[in-house]
Amino acid sequence: MVKHLCALPLEDLGFVPNLEADFIKNPASLREAMKLSETTTGPPSSEIFDLCQGSFFTFPYKSGQTRTVRLKHVIFRSNGIIGRGTMVIRVECACRNCPANQCDWKNKKLVLKMSFPSTTRVSEPTFMDRCKELAQGEHAWVSNHLPDLIWSFDIPFRDRSPQDNLRKKLGDEYERRVMRGVILEELKPLSSLKTAKECAQVFYDIVQCELSISGHHWVWKYPRILHRDISQGNIMVREKNGKKYGVLNDWDLAIWLDNKRDGPTSRFRTGTRPYMAYEQHSVKWKGPHRYRHDLESIFFVILLLACLYSRPDEKQPRPKDETYRYEEWHQSDDEFLSDKKYRTVNAADWEPPVTAFFSGFLLWLITLQDSFRLGFHEQGTFHRAVRLKLRRLHTVMDSFDEDTLGGHLSYEVIVSIVHIFEEEELETRGREWQLHLEKLRQNQVG
Ligand SMILES: [Zn+2]
Repeated sequence: MVKHLCALPLEDLGFVPNLEADFIKNPASLREAMKLSETTTGPPSSEIFDLCQGSFFTFPYKSGQTRTVRLKHVIFRSNGIIGRGTMVIRVECACRNCPANQCDWKNKKLVLKMSFPSTTRVSEPTFMDRCKELAQGEHAWVSNHLPDLIWSFDIPFRDRSPQDNLRKKLGDEYERRVMRGVILEELKPLSSLKTAKECAQVFYDIVQCELSISGHHWVWKYPRILHRDISQGNIMVREKNGKKYGVLNDWDLAIWLDNKRDGPTSRFRTGTRPYMAYEQHSVKWKGPHRYRHDLESIFFVILLLACLYSRPDEKQPRPKDETYRYEEWHQSDDEFLSDKKYRTVNAADWEPPVTAFFSGFLLWLITLQDSFRLGFHEQGTFHRAVRLKLRRLHTVMDSFDEDTLGGHLSYEVIVSIVHIFEEEELETRGREWQLHLEKLRQNQVG
């Protein structure tokens, strides 16, 4: 059986097509892989891709050509067990088809992101193409805050591949997926930042970028997009001409805001659990996903970073008392998180245990929590009133603005909170908002 398995092409083994991975055919490196699985604690396959370092991967390229890259270090591998998780691998051009000394990728730091989304999902490149169309003229600044997709391709699973066989056997129960690859410039993680103010600017950038992309800032004629999966891992940093910009990365779960139903999306991955909005942990929650949910995710990213890290690149050593209360958010289920987050956004006199390095974020967190708390309180009051009135008086009350929780999470409120950090003004990127804040200041002085 082993002999015949080894004779199969890689795609028939259910492996990544066009990957020249010797290890799977080589008994010595298979033994290496066995050793890895004894020491690793993650999913069984989490380290196996390190064995692919140095292998070549070929994918479709412009005008029917192919292009080949050499795989280097695995930067990120998600913990997805159902389906296949996303992988990000540093790559360099293998120059098999490049004209001599004329490689257009030569001086670029590139990564290959491989993911396996449902075939019905709108692809990340589609969203990014649309954003690039919008980011013109006075909106050109937005490009600094989006990933730079250099090339993208889809590789469908072949007929008679294990995926195809499963689909035939299970019918519609089996979610059809495609292998989607994107080559993009490498961005730096949050841990590369040096000061709390740099972190604050990056978070403010993400808020501004989200406001713009979701159309809450740009005029209505633009198609509006929600990211839906904001986490610590996909808030990244771009260094350009000595300046740092916050970049919202990984648009695999994004949706068009005006098409909230979005067809049959993946039933499994709906966000990164510790950062998901509190409502989304409830089984009763049926959507729609709103801008304020992304905002809540940013709030939880800041909260967990400020409480669990003593520096951007260093986790706080675990103290014995209960002040380390957010650590378990990373391993908990929906029921637990729903309860904890409910308490977090509804507690009066809430004060999170931020570390000394991130102490400047305390004011942000408390003010944001205030907005959430007041908003949820009003929402609850409104819904209760509607329920009672409908039963007793058969009249409907005035509407409640779910998008901004009754105005408590309007973009004016949010920007006025996060454009200042430790009494210093951060950089506001868009002209529109610079004018708006200018006006705000004049009113305060007046
Ligand atoms: Zn090349």
